[in-house]
Amino acid sequence: MADMEKYAMPMKTIPQAMELRNLILQNFEKALLTKEIEDQQGLMDFVVVGGGPTGIETAGALGELKKHVLPRDYPELHIDKMQIHIIEKRDRLMNTMSQAASEKTAEFLKRFDVNIWLNTSISSYDGKTLILSNGKKIISYAVIWTAGVKGALIPGIKEDVILHESRYRVDGFNRIEGYENIFAIGDAAAMITKERPNGHPMLAPVAVQQGEHMARNLVNLIHQRKLIPFAYCDLGMMSTVGRNRALVDLKFLKFQGILAWFIWMFLHLMLLVGFRNRLVVFVNWAWNYFSYDRGIRLILRFFPK
Ligand SMILES: Cc1cc2nc3c(=O)[nH]c(=O)nc-3n(C[C@H](O)[C@H](O)[C@H](O)COP(=O)(O)OP(=O)(O)OC[C@H]3O[C@@H](n4cnc5c(N)ncnc54)[C@H](O)[C@@H]3O)c2cc1C
Repeated sequence: MADMEKYAMPMKTIPQAMELRNLILQNFEKALLTKEIEDQQGLMDFVVVGGGPTGIETAGALGELKKHVLPRDYPELHIDKMQIHIIEKRDRLMNTMSQAASEKTAEFLKRFDVNIWLNTSISSYDGKTLILSNGKKIISYAVIWTAGVKGALIPGIKEDVILHESRYRVDGFNRIEGYENIFAIGDAAAMITKERPNGHPMLAPVAVQQGEHMARNLVNLIHQRKLIPFAYCDLGMMSTVGRNRALVDLKFLKFQGILAWFIWMFLHLMLLVGFRNRLVVFVNWAWNYFSYDRGIRLILRFFPK
C-alpha cells in the first residue's frame, strides 16, 4: 500500500531500528511540549502492523518501555495515555506457531495493555490518522510496519515463477523452475510441497540449512554427481514477548513463560560469534535485567517525519 510505504516505519535493518528509536524518543519529547490534546495522544500512540514474531517482539518491547522506562524519563506525562496497538489480518497472533503459543502471546501482550486487533487490516494512513478495515480510527504519528518481507527480485527471470512475497518457485534442489543453472535459497525461495503449500517459513535456520545444502550441491554439480534434494530439519520456533516471557514450540514440546525466555536468551547468546561478544552482551543483559533500564536513550539524529 503506497500510504504505508510513505508514512509507516519499517523495521528490517539496524539503521531502521535506530531511526525507530529516534522517532519514539522524539515523539515523547514533542508530547511534553505540545498543548494540543489530540496531538499529544497521537505522539504517545504506537501502532504495530503485523502479529508475527517481529510485531509481537516490538509490541512487547514498547510495553516494557511503557511500564519500566518512560514513566521515569517523562514523569510530566501521564503514561496511561500511551496506547499500543497491534494489527493482524489473520484470526490469531503468531500464526506460524501453535495455537497455545498464539493464546499465550495474546495473554502476555494484554498484561502490557496492548490493544489487539485481529482479522483487521489497514484501510488508509496519512501519517497521522490510521483507518482500520473495521472502521476504527487511530491517531498515531508512529506506525511500525512489521508485516511481511519481500525478496529483491532479479530482472530478467521469468515472472511466472515469482510467487507471493516475491519468492521464486524452486524445485526440490532449490533450482528456480524452468532454469537449469539458476538457484534461489532462503527468503527468496519457495519450495512448494504437499506438506508445505506456502514453502518453508522465512526464517534464518531455513536460509542457513539451504545455504549449506546448496554449497554441497554446487560441488556435486561441478563433479557431475547427482544433486541431493533439500530436506529441512525443523528444530522448532521461539520468540519473546518482553521481559520474562517467551514462546517455545519444539516438535514434541511446547511451552511458554520464563523458562522459555531463559532458553531463548541462552540460545541467542550462544549464537553470537566470539567469547568477547557473548560476555559483553551477557553483562549488558544482566545490567538491564536488574536495573529495569534500557541502554542509552539518545536521539542520535532528528528523524524527519
Ligand atoms: C526484523 C526481523 C527480525 C527477524 N527475526 C528472526 C528471528 O528471530 N529468527 C529467525 O529465524 N529469523 C528471523 N528473521 C528472518 C531472517 O532474518 C531471514 O529469514 C533470513 O535472514 C533470510 O536469509 P536470506 O539469506 O535468505 O536473506 P537475507 O538475510 O535478507 O540476505 C539477503 C542478502 O542479499 C542482499 N541482496 C539483495 N539483493 C541483491 C542483489 N541483487 N545482489 C546482491 N545482493 C543482494 C541483501 O542486501 C542481503 O544482504 C527476521 C527478519 C526480520 C526482518
